[in-house]
Amino acid sequence: MLTNDQLAQWDRENFFHASTHLAQHARGETPTRVITGGKGCHIEDRDGRKLLDAFAGLYCVNAGYGRPEIADAIAEQARELAYYHAYVGHGTEASITLAKMVLDRAPAHMSKVYFGLSGSDANETNIKLIWYYNNILGRPEKKKIISRWRGYHGSGLMTGSLTGLELFHNKFDLPLAQVLHTEAPYYYRRDDLNQTEAQFTQHCVDALEAMIEREGADTIAAFIGEPVLGTGGIVPPPEGYWEAIQEVLKKHDILLVADEVVTGFGRLGSMFGSEHYGMTPDLITIAKGLTSAYAPLSGSIVSDKMWKVLEQGTDENGPIGHGWTYSAHPIGAAAGVANLKLLDDLNLIANAGETGAYLNAAMHDALGDHPNVGQIRGEGMLCAVELVEDRETRRYFDPSAKVGATVAAALFADGVIGRAMPQGDILGFAPPFCLSRDEADEIVAKTVKAIKSAG
Ligand code: PLP
Repeated sequence: MLTNDQLAQWDRENFFHASTHLAQHARGETPTRVITGGKGCHIEDRDGRKLLDAFAGLYCVNAGYGRPEIADAIAEQARELAYYHAYVGHGTEASITLAKMVLDRAPAHMSKVYFGLSGSDANETNIKLIWYYNNILGRPEKKKIISRWRGYHGSGLMTGSLTGLELFHNKFDLPLAQVLHTEAPYYYRRDDLNQTEAQFTQHCVDALEAMIEREGADTIAAFIGEPVLGTGGIVPPPEGYWEAIQEVLKKHDILLVADEVVTGFGRLGSMFGSEHYGMTPDLITIAKGLTSAYAPLSGSIVSDKMWKVLEQGTDENGPIGHGWTYSAHPIGAAAGVANLKLLDDLNLIANAGETGAYLNAAMHDALGDHPNVGQIRGEGMLCAVELVEDRETRRYFDPSAKVGATVAAALFADGVIGRAMPQGDILGFAPPFCLSRDEADEIVAKTVKAIKSAG
């Protein structure tokens, strides 16, 4: 068996990790962490260390680790038929069944689902479909896409552009010219405006209206947003936000993409964030929770309104020129079918709502008055603790002190995985839906300890 040192050496010599400080890792200044197993809300590393994964991987292992129902479905599919493509009407029992299961769960006005592999490629698909749609409707100028600062929509060329976090733009020559960013719906961080929450919602709406006016509504195709900002800091929208934003979009005939890669299939305690916030999107992006990450699979759910135009387009122009080799991969589809069934059978979405509310309330009770906790916020099985140097003025810590990362490291050392979100000192939690109240208590108790230990 390979030693840990050997693996760490091979890792440093050969492996290009995602979202990693490459130079530090190559120098061995950041550890190689080899994860070997998982069960329920826990993962285990190569030293046999058990960790409570309060971020469900990257908020994706929603059903929890080690589910034999999903693993068996994958194995059976691989034995029967590991691969066949989805071009020109081909499918498998798994992909056709999953499409039906997704549409059965989606809002009533949705019509079809296109399957991809990642949240990033699903959003790329969405933007192509939006451009195609406007070309078929004879309005080739209507192409710009509005997203929000602090939104996260992936890290491809277009999706990295849509993402409103500078880390994902810097030195990559992004964002691309067709993308515009508007105000983040981040009430806590706009205290400079001195507004009520409802006034701040109106401020976001006014900023959007002003952008549309400036650019011209006939140049703007779509608005994309996560129901709850995720990677940008786990920020639920301010009061009345989606209702008011949708009114503006409707008025200017601008499509709405609900990026539900994190919120889709139950993370807010509802099947979709769209239903949670009364959104009526034209496209819904799904990924992570579709298979609970047992296999890579994503999707673009298309509304009736857009579907009609796509059909018209192919009557006029021939087959749609879009597809990946691995679209609707049978193994991913089999994982999806088993996963959605498991969420139903074990009532896991209701648990996400109930235990998520318990976790958020317990975090408030434990840290609500802490002098270095500016805000605790969340929705369903999402919770964030925003750390500040000064609670009264909401002053950030000096970024070079890396306080969020230090607290996350202390938490990790104590056996709980939270995530230091990429911008600001925000500790994020997004546990699997099978989290118990005892596990929620452990997350809270150890977070209190970690904040204390970081001074
Ligand atoms: N959209 C949202 C809301 C996400 O949170 C993510 C990933 O975290 C993505 C898109 C991109 O998904 P992927 O990393 O699978 O490409």
